Amino acid sequence: MSRSKHTGCNSAGRLGWFLSILLMAALGCQQEKPLVPVHFQGEAQGTYYALTYYDAQHRNLQPAVDSLLRAFDLEASLWVEQSTLSQINRNDTSYSLGPHMQEMLQLSLRIARESQGAFDITVGPLVNAWGFGFREGRKPQQATIDSLLQLTGAGRFRVEGDKVVKSDARVELDLNAIAQGYSVDLLGAFLEEQGIQNFLVDIGGEVLARGKKADGSDWRVGIERPAESPDAPRELQDVVRLTDLAMATSGSYRKFYEQDGVKYSHTIDPATGYPVTHRLLSASVMAGSVALADAYATVLMVLGPEKAKAFILGRKDLEAYLIFTNEDGAYETWVSPGLEQQIVQDTQ
Ligand code: ADP
Ligand code: MG
Repeated sequence: MSRSKHTGCNSAGRLGWFLSILLMAALGCQQEKPLVPVHFQGEAQGTYYALTYYDAQHRNLQPAVDSLLRAFDLEASLWVEQSTLSQINRNDTSYSLGPHMQEMLQLSLRIARESQGAFDITVGPLVNAWGFGFREGRKPQQATIDSLLQLTGAGRFRVEGDKVVKSDARVELDLNAIAQGYSVDLLGAFLEEQGIQNFLVDIGGEVLARGKKADGSDWRVGIERPAESPDAPRELQDVVRLTDLAMATSGSYRKFYEQDGVKYSHTIDPATGYPVTHRLLSASVMAGSVALADAYATVLMVLGPEKAKAFILGRKDLEAYLIFTNEDGAYETWVSPGLEQQIVQDTQ
């Protein structure tokens, strides 16, 4: 006979059995078997991923996570030639939009409307021209920017059935500002399907927290202090308690492009076709899903510090943590009112 998992929990009679299961659920039979978190990390989307979860069966779900992430790249990655997104961009119509692509495209169109065009996945050709895409590039000529602006705007594509219809074959879509967050949501949904309720999923700093740690404390997530150089070690500015919350950060300080002494961020202002150059260094957003948090973090980077504050104050469903430089070049932070109590003060 296999060793009973329920040692120490009374199982006499049907009712007793039922009650003991209830009791186990309530107490987790913690006296006998403390819950140890499962933790693993790997690489995806050109960055790291890290999962921590509590699972009574202590399952290693890494192989499943890896294949989920690979399947996701086959839809939304610009770096995978056979991906649906790459096919859309090279006008190869042999693809069929799956539910994830459909949802990301619909979300992107909605956020483009809500942000009056600040969020715009048709920035693809501009991103490439400025050199932040998968192709090499350098500071483009004004004439090039002007002509690429003709291919930019949420009105340049629409979804019809399982296809994307573009207004011009040269229109290219770029889901980088939302896909990473979306994939964190996917992993969270996968863990929930497995019956796991307490977890932390992190892909490159885009985070989803559900439930709590085994000792009953909240998950905590660091907000990175903007670095002076892209390779500087990661330091924390603050730590946020995350309970059932999704958070994503966009920053201009790690990925940028420098030419003739000017730093160009990898976020493009679709109104001008230029990378944003204002004083906002990083925007962390908390939202109902990581996909939303990711996209709105990009919106805030386009808006700049003052408009970003106003945007967040006008939205009950969003909280934000902004880091920017003041006139003296010193770092300043702004925390939206609903987030203040979530900040853990004793971080340093
Ligand atoms: P990160 O989390 O690395 O700071 P973001 O989530 O802000 O990145 O996404 C930045 C990427 O999104 C850029 O590299 C580019 O591919 C794309 N992008 C740039 N500008 C915009 C924009 N205005 N709207 C939507 N996507 C954008
Ligand atoms: Mg983003």
